[in-house]
This record gives sequence, C-alpha cells and structure tokens, in this order.
Amino acid sequence: MPLHAFQTLAYEPAFLSLGAEYWDEVQAASFPEHWLRFRNDDLLPLMGLNPASVTNSDFIAAFGQFQGREPLLAMRYHGYQFGEYNPRLGDGRGFLYGQFRGVDGYLYDLGTKGSGTTPYSRGGDGRLTLKGGVREVLASELLHRLGVPTFRSLSLIETGESLWRGDEPSPTRSSVLVRLGRSHIRFGTFERLHYLKRPDLIRQLLDHVIDYYYPHLGEISDPKERYGQFYRELVAATADLAATWLAAGFCHGVLNTDNMAITGESFDYGPYRFLERYDLGFTAAYFDYYGRYAYGNQPAICVWNLEKLQAPLSFVMPLEAMQAALQSFGDRCRHTYLKQMLRRLGWQTLPVERGSLLVEQTQEFLSRSTISYPQFFVSLRQEFSAQWVVDAGHIFRESPTLSSADQTLLGPWKATYVQLLQEATPEERNAIPATLAAANPLVILTQPRIETIWQAIDTENDWALFNATLAAMKA
Ligand code: AMP
Ligand code: MG
Repeated sequence: MPLHAFQTLAYEPAFLSLGAEYWDEVQAASFPEHWLRFRNDDLLPLMGLNPASVTNSDFIAAFGQFQGREPLLAMRYHGYQFGEYNPRLGDGRGFLYGQFRGVDGYLYDLGTKGSGTTPYSRGGDGRLTLKGGVREVLASELLHRLGVPTFRSLSLIETGESLWRGDEPSPTRSSVLVRLGRSHIRFGTFERLHYLKRPDLIRQLLDHVIDYYYPHLGEISDPKERYGQFYRELVAATADLAATWLAAGFCHGVLNTDNMAITGESFDYGPYRFLERYDLGFTAAYFDYYGRYAYGNQPAICVWNLEKLQAPLSFVMPLEAMQAALQSFGDRCRHTYLKQMLRRLGWQTLPVERGSLLVEQTQEFLSRSTISYPQFFVSLRQEFSAQWVVDAGHIFRESPTLSSADQTLLGPWKATYVQLLQEATPEERNAIPATLAAANPLVILTQPRIETIWQAIDTENDWALFNATLAAMKA
C-alpha cells in the first residue's frame, strides 16, 4: 500500500544516477504543524493523478512530512552573485524531492524550498517564510498565465515555526513550498565543475542535459557540433525568457547564475516585483544598490550569464562557436519581445515588422503616463470595441481608466492602432478580443496588491483574497 498518492508517480532517478559528485543526500526537517495553504490541482493531471482522488492529507504526507521518498538530494552548485563568483552555494534550504515522467513524456523535477538545513545552509535556518512562499506561489502562477516559461508551484504548507528575518517583521511564519519544473540544473552547476577543474564531469553533465532536455540533438553525431547546437538553443531559450519577462512587466530581482536554469525556465522568486510604472531602471531587490538586475537590464544580464557559462563549456567545445552563437541573443530577444507585446495589444498574427511602431508607441506612452503597466493592458482588454475601426476618436472614448492627460499622450498610439485595424482582415479584427483576454489576465500583482493579500493572511489568517487572486488568474 502506498503511503500517499504521490508515491505512485513514475519516478526516475536521473540526477541521482549522475553520481555522488553532484549531490548530497539530506533529511527533511520535521515540523510542528502542517497546514496546507495551497494545492495546485491543475498540475496533477500532468503527474497522472486525478485531482478528485488526491486528498489534502496526501499533500501533507508527501510535501510536509516527506513520507516514503528517498533519497532526497541537495544539489551542488556555485554561481556568480551580483557579479562575484561564490563557491559557497548549493541547495541550502531545499532539495530535489524527485523526478518523474509526466504524461506528456517529459521528465520533471519536484523541488522543495524551506524544507530544512543541508550541508549548504551556511548558518542559515534552511527555512522559507510563509510570506516568501505566498509571494512565490503568486509570481509563478501569474507568470505562467502571462506566457513566461516558468516553474510552477505545486503546494504550499505552513509549518508552524517562528522565523527571524531582517527583511520581514519578525518573528514571522514558516512554510515549505514545492515547485515543479523541467530542471533545477543551473548555469552554476556547470560553473562548479569548472572551478573543480573536472572537464570529465562537465562532459558527463552536458551529455545528461542533452539526453534529458535536448534529446532531439542526439541525432547530431559529431559531439562538438551537438554541444554547439545545445549552446545555440540555450541562447535562444534564454533570450525568449528575458523577452517574456519584459513583456510581462516582471523584474526577477536576483539573476545570479545559480538562478538560471539550463532549460531556459524562470524560477526562484524571492524579492521580485511586477512593474508599476514602466521604467527600465526599476529594481526589485532592496539590496541591488547599483541596479544590476533592473527590469530593463535583464536581457543584458542574461547575456553576461551566458557568457560566463562559456568558460566551463569551453572544455568540451570551441569558444568561438559559443561567442558567435551569443551574438544572436539580441535579435531573438527583440523578436520574441515584439511578438509578446503585440499579443498583449491584441495582435496575434501581425508580423513584428508591421507592429513594431505600435510597441514603441506603447512604451513611450507608458513611460510618460501615470497609468500602471499592468492596468493599461487590463483597460485595453476591457475597453476594446469593434467601433474603434471607425476612427481614432472612438479609441478609449470615455475611458474610466485613462485621464485626459493620458488621452492626449496616447494620440500617436491611437493613430497607429486605428490604421492597423483598418488594414486588418475581418478575421484578424474579430480575433482581437480573444487575444486580449488570453494575453492580459485581470489580476494585477504590483507591490501594494501583494501586501494587501499578505496583510489579510498575517493579521486574520484570512486566505480568501489569496485564493480569489489565484482563481481569477485562471478565469
Ligand atoms: P537564493 O537567493 O534563494 O537563490 O539563495 C542563494 C543561496 O542561499 C542558495 O545556496 C540558498 O540555498 C541559500 N539560502 C537562502 N536562504 C537560506 C536559508 N534561510 N537557509 C539556508 N540557506 C539559504
Ligand atoms: Mg536560488
């Protein structure tokens, strides 16, 4: 008899089988309480589970009490943090819970955060604050809704401890988050092997990454060419990732190389923020004094991180090929950004060259207007009308959300928008409302909003707003 529903998954010991150079076996902490605060039923079918037959007790047994799953692995990695190499990293408050084959055929990781200390805790408590867990659930689910390739949150369990933190009123409540994504292998996993001068392991890890996450490259028989193509695809995936952050109006906040996944997925949401005003210099982390990880700097930082990754990879492939591949980042990022922005503006199929002026005018407007970045797209979704095609005067006519100053600032945008509408086919015009609805969730998670959600939890243990916010993301 399995102890709980999550014991029946199709687990595969992929990372474990790389060998003990890559991980340490660890134990989960035992916690005084287990209150399930969030379960993501949308992810259960991917795991081959029927949500109706998975109980809250199953979640708690699996992801609060860690019954019947071993070994649990703290992953070893290093990384560049704010530009400085740090060899004292690794999973310090989480571990790889397990890897399973999804019903879609892909291998997925389940990783914990806040589950106890490990050899890499460096004096930290190995815990995650409840507020941190709440923030991460909200970010991952909204980013997913906004089209960012992101890790998802599977569960959040409050664990009944009191934590002390410099950046939260303390004592503060504790939690364990479980997240689901393709791979927790990071740029920093390779950087560590370079630091240890282990080209043999770099090759082994790269073969592993290609086998599991870039299997189509297996057809390329020449290893140098195969590795080169891997790097090119990683550059493209990371450029797409940076582009989707920008379009989502998201500032990750801590783009250290230990937070960059080898699959180009976005993960690890700490001091992130969603934009209020559109401002390229907007920073999320209060400790990011020089704006290294500012909103508009995210593509440049991804390039920097990809460049650093060339050092370990140069043990197995020529540096020049990687340098050439990295040149393509800018065009790729720009192209994906324009596509994403045009979707948010209602244009699903418009070629980017034809839509780029509208995107520039959107940026220009948003950087000068007082309307918040996400509110503009919500307003567009709610106020768009088929009448707009008649002339620019119909656009946002009597808008409840745009001030008269905004109406003036939006003049050039309106002229372009009406022209695109008039040039569009009826099918293209008819598709706009559905595109706007798909691309622009009504949920806004700027900082004051997150604080409001947290206040209700903090003071009244009232989860209604948190739950309603998550439900509204799906609508
Ligand atoms: P992060 O900023 O969450 O990516 O974490 C950077 C490093 O600090 C990683 O090695 C984490 O595991 C570690 N870390 C962060 N918070 C804690 C904590 N409360 N206890 C132990 N290690 C931590
Ligand atoms: Mg991290």
